Formats: sequence, structure tokens, C-alpha cells
Amino acid sequence: MYHHVKKLMYTVRVGTPDPRFGNMLLEQFGGANGELAAAMQYSVQGLNCDDPERKDLLMDIGTEELSHLEVVGTLARMHLKPTKNDRNAAFADPLIAIAGGGGVNLYNSQGDPWTADYLKITGELDVDLRSNIAAEARAKIVYERLINFTDDQGTIDTLQFLMSREITHMKAFAAALESMGKPPFSIGTIPPTPKLVDQYFNDSTGIGDRGEADVRGPWNSGGNWEFVNAPAFEQMESQKAGTRVPNDAEGANGGSNGGTRAKASKASAGKGRK
Ligand code: MN
Ligand code: MN
Repeated sequence: MYHHVKKLMYTVRVGTPDPRFGNMLLEQFGGANGELAAAMQYSVQGLNCDDPERKDLLMDIGTEELSHLEVVGTLARMHLKPTKNDRNAAFADPLIAIAGGGGVNLYNSQGDPWTADYLKITGELDVDLRSNIAAEARAKIVYERLINFTDDQGTIDTLQFLMSREITHMKAFAAALESMGKPPFSIGTIPPTPKLVDQYFNDSTGIGDRGEADVRGPWNSGGNWEFVNAPAFEQMESQKAGTRVPNDAEGANGGSNGGTRAKASKASAGKGRK
């Protein structure tokens, strides 16, 4: 059950309205990383959640995001209000000025309508919690950029409040995921194929036009990693001519897809050599 209380979660004060900044704020109202998306994502995940403890967390934070929507909507409305009557202000956001009469609507800063496509809901609690941690990180960085583009102290204070709460949520989602006790790379129930799962394919090779190097790091060396260099060229006799080394290991019956593909390549390679 939802109940509206006639009090903002944070008191919004704006010194000088800036319609162009108001337009940018819409990103956090009806945008991909905005408050409505966060509220709907967590609340709908909560509806799907069979774990009563983490369902409580999802409903708590989903509901707080609705309060954030009210705060950021109020802030955007205060900045956009002059578009109602002022011609220069109207130019900052024609959609709001002409279709909205100076009021906000569920569009992003470019006038794209809000969509459920923004939501990440899988019905797998640990996977959803990972999406939520990423969503909070995106919301945080968008608020930070907004703070960097305004000089209005009241606006900065409001955005600082909202930005801080996103980190609070990020911490709570991370702790909830950790408390599930699942190994970090264990997703779902079917285990990945052994050996294959530890192969790192070096699929971008050489020194690039701007001197970009081939790099080794903890993401492809040490631990269980097996570094597979340029797998696309593995069977090449000549990379320039595209000819391939005959491979007897590909059985005559061509039972697997890989075998069939290799056989076809062998045939065309043979043709090329004549
Ligand atoms: Mn929020
Ligand atoms: Mn949040």
C-alpha cells in the first residue's frame, strides 16, 4: 500500500531558476538512470522476490526512490517554470514550454519518453542485486555531473542529498548480495564448462595505429587463466592468403559444428593453393 505525505524528503530551495539546467535535470526524472526507473526496478523486483528479508530491502529502497522522484521533479519544475511565459526560457526546452506549459513530464533531457526498457528485472535475486548496484553507480555519477554544471547553492545541496542516498543504496545492495553467501562467479545452477571458462581469448592483437599495446593483467594472466593467442588465426598457414593448416583432428564424419566449419575452410584453402 502506498501513502503520500505532504512533505518532501528534502526541502528544495532554488535561488535563480535556470531553464537549461532544468532540462538537464529531467535525466533524473524520466531518464534511463533516473528516479522513476530506480523506483520501478526495485519495487517490481520486490514483487517477484520470494526471500522475505531481501524483499523488505527492495520495497524500502524502491519506495525511497519514489520520494527522490518527488524531490527531483520539484527541483526540475522550479528551474523550468519560467518556460511557461518567458520566450528565451522557452527556447531551453520547447517540449516542456509548448506541450507541458512549463511543467515536467516523464521524458529525459532529449524528450525521449520514459520506457520500461530502462528496467533490469530477471527474477533471479542475486542477478537483480548486481543490476541494482550498477544502477546506483550510474545514478551517482549522473548526480555528480549535474552538481558540476550548476552554481546555485540550493540546487547543489538538494543534488548532494540525492547523490549521497544513491551510495547508501549501493552499500545496502552490495551487503545484501554478499549476505546471500554465493561465490562471486556462481550465477544460476548450471556450471560453466571447465577449462573453456578459464580461457582468455586474445582477440585484438598487434600494436595499433596510435600505439595501443597488447596488455596482460590480472584479467588474463595468473590464477587459472589460460591465455589463447589470436584464436581466429590458430589454424592459419598464411594470414595474408587466408590459407589454413590441414587438421587431421577434425574427424572425417564432421560430427560437430566446429568440425564442419573447419572442413569447409580446408576445402576452400585447398582450392586456393591450386
Ligand atoms: Mn534515488
Ligand atoms: Mn538509489
